Amino acid sequence: MSQTGLFVGGEWLQRAAEFSVYNPATGEEIATVVDANADDVSAAIDAAHQAFPAWSSTTAHHRSAILYRAWQLMLERKADLAQLMSLEQGKPLRAAANEVQYGADFLLWFAEEAKRNYGETIPSARADQRFIVQHQAVGVVAAITPWNYPVSMITRKLAPALAAGCTVVLKPAEATPLCAIEIFKILQEAGIPDGVINLVTAADPKPVGEAFCTNPRVRKLTFTGSTPVGKLLAQTAAPQMKRVSMELGGHAPFIVFDDADPVHAAKGAALVKFLNTGQACICPNRIFVHRKSLEAFTETLSARIAKLRVGSGLEEGVAIGPLVSEAALAKVEAQVNDATDKGAQLVCGGQRPASPELSSGYFYTPTVLTGVTEDMLIYRQETFGPVAPIIAFDDDDDVIGMANDTTYGLAAYVYTQNLSRAMRSFEALNFGIIGINDINPTSAAAPFGGMKESGLGREGAREGMMEYLETKLGGFSI
Ligand code: ADP
Repeated sequence: MSQTGLFVGGEWLQRAAEFSVYNPATGEEIATVVDANADDVSAAIDAAHQAFPAWSSTTAHHRSAILYRAWQLMLERKADLAQLMSLEQGKPLRAAANEVQYGADFLLWFAEEAKRNYGETIPSARADQRFIVQHQAVGVVAAITPWNYPVSMITRKLAPALAAGCTVVLKPAEATPLCAIEIFKILQEAGIPDGVINLVTAADPKPVGEAFCTNPRVRKLTFTGSTPVGKLLAQTAAPQMKRVSMELGGHAPFIVFDDADPVHAAKGAALVKFLNTGQACICPNRIFVHRKSLEAFTETLSARIAKLRVGSGLEEGVAIGPLVSEAALAKVEAQVNDATDKGAQLVCGGQRPASPELSSGYFYTPTVLTGVTEDMLIYRQETFGPVAPIIAFDDDDDVIGMANDTTYGLAAYVYTQNLSRAMRSFEALNFGIIGINDINPTSAAAPFGGMKESGLGREGAREGMMEYLETKLGGFSI
């Protein structure tokens, strides 16, 4: 199937150059997609630039109604979108349907937020002066999104940008352009005018990123992906002082204090660690368990994950889909081998599955390691795979120090029944999102984002729309 992922000025364009999209469960090609060139990227930015004055002048109520319609359409197509996502990204169908729901939630949330772009009046010290503050659309937005959540990472950027009155050029991940194409069809059908949203699919992201960062017509860059790429983009965008939002990597600690129920905590860890085969930036990457609870926790966690069926996300009953690529699989293997070489114990997993029908996909058996120490790669690096590394601790202050000892600062999880401990941990952990006895602290209504090298800015919530708005002050002498 040949598809175009080049949507510029309201038209789907064909090009001779194409690249392949593969099913990560089988390694088979499922489609070819247009490989946009530098002129295409520049034309997409021009189209967004031309569409900006009219779109940003529409009423918030008008933009809201279109986003609301897009929300309805996305929910109507939930099953088809989930099927497509499973095929190109690999996650099990039920998880894919949940993601479509989460993606649609942003359309609805920002349909509502569009109408709440309130300003303020500020009392002046001068009797003859009045201050008013308004928030205005920032301009053309360039967006770059990853493959791990190929629907929700797009709507989490596009919905607030459109609600604010911005126009957009999106480059989706080269592994998952098909979901992006379907989202654009939905938005187009919902009534987004020509030129307001533009899509460029490309096999090589570098020149597109470069064009986004250096074209003066782009006023804002929003990126979700790895920390090294985020830093590179922020640096390249800096000379023009473009506004940037960055959702980058994570290295989430998961802390189980001695007063917590270790069985309940282990059930939570089994769910959140193996979410999307461990390929989420909020997945726990270091599981700190009080020594007293170590045995009960490890037993429950390994018993739970031993039951998770590995296979194609399209098959009934599968809980663990493939990793995205051979490189991702090799990284997981290297981290596990490094840990066991340095003395970690393999409780379960630790290899590619033996069954021949899985041999052409990028599968890895869910793995639990104990005895993980600071000198191991897995203690420092984001894994992005189905490996749960367990570290024993004895003291509250020590564990908070160990949890904070990372350059990342996205998500953290704490299990305790003690209110003071919960509050102390919430305040002391240097992370943007903290789940207290809660493995799913995410919602369209809640600000998502990281501290330190996990990023800049927040997505979702009230904050999510502010990322696409400038604050303008009016001082009036009367
Ligand atoms: P991951 O390691 O999760 O694939 P990446 O940061 O490599 O994360 O990819 C996330 C997104 O960033 C994808 O859309 C990818 O195409 C894009 N990307 C990767 N490298 C660059 C780059 N040098 N410039 C612009 N975009 C890039």
